[in-house]
Amino acid sequence: MARSPLVAGNWKMNGLLASAGELQKIMAGAEKLAGVDVMVFPPATLLAGFAAAARGSRVAIGAQDCHALAAGAFTGDISAEMLKDAGAQAVIVGHSERRHYHGETDVMVRDKALAARRAGLMAIVCIGETQAERDAGHARAVLRTQLDGSLPDGTADFAVAYEPVWAIGSGLTPTPRDIADMHGFIRQFLSSRYGEAAQQTRILYGGSVKPSNAAELLTVDNVDGALIGGASLKAEEFLAIAQVYG
Ligand code: PEP
Repeated sequence: MARSPLVAGNWKMNGLLASAGELQKIMAGAEKLAGVDVMVFPPATLLAGFAAAARGSRVAIGAQDCHALAAGAFTGDISAEMLKDAGAQAVIVGHSERRHYHGETDVMVRDKALAARRAGLMAIVCIGETQAERDAGHARAVLRTQLDGSLPDGTADFAVAYEPVWAIGSGLTPTPRDIADMHGFIRQFLSSRYGEAAQQTRILYGGSVKPSNAAELLTVDNVDGALIGGASLKAEEFLAIAQVYG
């Protein structure tokens, strides 16, 4: 069975109540894109409102992070169960900005992915090497360590997002050949750990995807969609990228 592509927009710390119009445009455009799953990950403040607005549309709403535990004395944190209750269907875990600015380790990321499973959310587990790691020839080793430590055991019921840190928000991208190489490596890893079922696991590419490079980057072998930051903030750009699979 073929994997259905997923195009996911990570709004990061951007968006106010007034941004609902952008979501409406995305919902309208997604109606014409039957061949691709579309998800928007707004900041937590907009989650419940967006989820209510998107109900019954082709757009699913997700969250950008979650706590590993279901409830407790963790000021400012939000559990996967709370996200589910607010209408989320998915959650991003282990984004490189969380790993870098919040010191999240592979073990913490795995616990968050497990929390997502517990709450009935699809986790998008992010991995990716830095420029220095790539230059030193360690990109595969870094990915292996992150995959080993960040992915939960059992079923491969998550998506993986390969996001080279140096490509995020920089305008730089790997070549299609490099992407094919890294995604092939991730697919092999998934198959050896989860068996045949891992053929259904989507591997997204993320890092400076925009309308002008989407066709080239997103049609590479083992690329099952994209996680998009900057270009997801404008409905027209986001939809133009999703159109690659439409
Ligand atoms: C991201 O942060 O997940 C991302 C891919 O950002 P950008 O598209 O802006 O590079």
